[in-house]
Amino acid sequence: MPHRLTVVVSQSRSLNPKKRRIEEDIVAELLGERGIDVTVVPNLYDLQADGTGMLCLSGISGDLVVCSWLFPRAARWILDRNRIRGQEGVSLLKSQGESDEEEDSLDDALEDKQRVIDRLQLPSRKIYCLDLRAYDSPAVYLEEIKRIASELSTPTVELTSWINGRPKPEQMERYLANGKSENGAATRQHLEANGPIVIDEDPARRWYPVIDFGRCTNCLECIDFCLFGVYGIDAAETILVEQPDNCRQGCPACSRVCPENAIIFPQHKTPTIAGSPEVGGNMKIDLSQLFGAPDPGEPGAATAAEVAARERDEQLLLVGRQAVGMEPDVPRRHAEQPFVAQPQDDLDRLMDSLDKLDL
Ligand code: SF4
Ligand code: SF4
Repeated sequence: MPHRLTVVVSQSRSLNPKKRRIEEDIVAELLGERGIDVTVVPNLYDLQADGTGMLCLSGISGDLVVCSWLFPRAARWILDRNRIRGQEGVSLLKSQGESDEEEDSLDDALEDKQRVIDRLQLPSRKIYCLDLRAYDSPAVYLEEIKRIASELSTPTVELTSWINGRPKPEQMERYLANGKSENGAATRQHLEANGPIVIDEDPARRWYPVIDFGRCTNCLECIDFCLFGVYGIDAAETILVEQPDNCRQGCPACSRVCPENAIIFPQHKTPTIAGSPEVGGNMKIDLSQLFGAPDPGEPGAATAAEVAARERDEQLLLVGRQAVGMEPDVPRRHAEQPFVAQPQDDLDRLMDSLDKLDL
């Protein structure tokens, strides 16, 4: 069975002609490539879980390359939140502003803690995320996509892999209907021609946190901090973004209190908040710009937690609630919520036995 790779182009929110040209050039060039299917969606971050675009992506069962105007971490964990999962594919391309030193410091910083990702069961297919902001030339991305295509050896499904080969009738109906008859017709034409799938959805711009489970330790600080009901806990007692659209537009407050820098706001202008590969500790805030206060590091400068509390207070006041400052009078959950233990391996059991002997 021939290997197939699906390349997803996640369009920029803006109509910047330079960005559109890069997207179009990638799609046009890949049309002639054997073994590669192409799907074009609006900005991944804006797609609703039950919308046409996410439904289409959910149906892709093979390896994926996702080209977006987002940091790769952001793209990967947006997909994960929508249960589009796989092993992280390693690209040779850098993301915007990334350097070798950042990669090394990230490896060092993440080595010794238990992360949520350690107990996620991810399928074997690979997902590569490429940052379209990093290079001006479509040729760079095309070369990398072709390299990835030649490197992959996992058999996938036939040409209609974009929707699992056998979509359920109701899935296909929703996909083709797409809320507008002309879109449905256009999609059908694409299907018949086996050309690129273009999702002509027009989702509203969204703003919500995305959790990087490669960093998250399930400490639950964020659920304690957010007073807008955005976070929840799933059946396995793991943090999740339960009500994303409850989040307050433009506010990144909880990303400042996450001890692991695991909370991403993909459209924030600060790279560390938007999902750059940098690790935590780099969340210094220029308070002189925000509040007329001293710079971080100077006497009187506020901490990230203080700034986060102020940002949260601003949002509370905007919706007619009372400011709560640093210590809101609400029950805290994370103190009583230990990380769910991993199954023990043999070495752990041996160490436990030795401990019990108390030699
Ligand atoms: S604050 Fe939230 S996102 Fe950050 S590590 Fe703790 S549980 Fe995970
Ligand atoms: S930014 Fe504010 S409203 Fe949004 S999830 Fe974080 S704390 Fe909650």
